[in-house]
Amino acid sequence: MKTTFRYLPDNRSLTAALIAVVLLLMVFSCAAPDRGGYPPVETLPETEIDLPGSGDVPVVRVLILETGDRIRIDIPGGQVAAKSEDGRTIGRFEVSGTLALSKTKNGLRLKQRNRPVHEAPIMEIRPTGNSGFTIEETPYRGGLLLRRHGGKKIQAINVIEIDDYLKGVLPSEIGYLKEGQYEAYKVQAIASRSYALSKLEEKKNEPFDMRATIMDQVYKGIKGENRVASEAVEKTRGIVGVWGGEPIRAYYSACCGGHTSDVRVGWPWKAHYPYLYGRRDAHGEAGKSFCSSSRHFRWEVVWSGSDLSRITGKTLPAELGGRVPPFNVIRDIKVVGYAPSGRARAIEIVTDKGTHRVEGDRIRWVLRPDSSRGPILRSTLFKMEVSRGGGRVKQIRIKGGGNGHGVGMCQTGAIGMATEGFSAERILAHYYPGVSLVRIY
Ligand SMILES: [Zn+2]
Repeated sequence: MKTTFRYLPDNRSLTAALIAVVLLLMVFSCAAPDRGGYPPVETLPETEIDLPGSGDVPVVRVLILETGDRIRIDIPGGQVAAKSEDGRTIGRFEVSGTLALSKTKNGLRLKQRNRPVHEAPIMEIRPTGNSGFTIEETPYRGGLLLRRHGGKKIQAINVIEIDDYLKGVLPSEIGYLKEGQYEAYKVQAIASRSYALSKLEEKKNEPFDMRATIMDQVYKGIKGENRVASEAVEKTRGIVGVWGGEPIRAYYSACCGGHTSDVRVGWPWKAHYPYLYGRRDAHGEAGKSFCSSSRHFRWEVVWSGSDLSRITGKTLPAELGGRVPPFNVIRDIKVVGYAPSGRARAIEIVTDKGTHRVEGDRIRWVLRPDSSRGPILRSTLFKMEVSRGGGRVKQIRIKGGGNGHGVGMCQTGAIGMATEGFSAERILAHYYPGVSLVRIY
């Protein structure tokens, strides 16, 4: 099945994109400097600190470290804006070399050799030029925002131009691709850029936009970059998938098993987007799946009744909260409804103490194959065979397909399509139907 794709922006989406750019600039324009309210730090001449990308390129704020311990930062040179709890600039000072950051009762303390110690609730480090910084031996581009989180933690947030961020995302998210698969890097760049931009509006009143983990997109800073992926980021500079005037929430996962998932099936509790419906990942309904080369395309897991009981004894309360009383045996387990993709919409687990329903992608967190803390089930695209006896489940066998939630782009499928010669535009049109590509910066 081939979808027509509008690569050139129509007027409406172009207008929407321009509005989006204006909004982004408004979000990221720096607050006017202000003093007072907090003990003064060493004062420098009044020069406004421009965060990276405060021109026309969007900037993202990525949580890269959260710890209760002291943090080591290395920086060739830079300036720090000390800020109050509500974000007002209360002082500025210069830094270079090795910095030690620790907690105080009410904020942060920054020490550097032969220089005064500085304390403030929030510190924003702007490295000189493009020098970046190193935190706990991992180098990053862009700037660094440091803040307290709750009573015990320090959060380190990388404030970085979106394309520099994407360079540290691509290799971790789609791997190191072979020659002939280059279009898949472009696809991943556009999908990751769209996803990141779609978070900005939603998170604008929070301290960061994304985490550097699978919760959002895996991001490893400069260590995570490779030359070819970086080139794909540059070649697709500013290009974003847009629907209804907004950057798309471009979810993706490793392998869909031959059919992507409708977002309403995977995450019935999340927002629905019309371009995230399930589709066959192949040439036509009967064709060979684009992702069939994945080692996760088909798989099988077997649990004994006692293993299942032991694992779900921990995972059910973890996922469903206080509604799950401790139980001794599992009397029955079954799938309650399948989506057209073949994914289980929900499962029902009957214990000697009650019946529990687990919906959508949460099933994967409950039915862990090895242990209650081990890897999650690869996908909800499965069939389940249950052996029962003596009023309890004796064994279950799951035959499944794919790896990941299956919503949006199938990454192995995108690589498969690239290998077959499809362009990035065509691949994106396949996984995010009805979406326009627009260059917004
Ligand atoms: Zn697939």
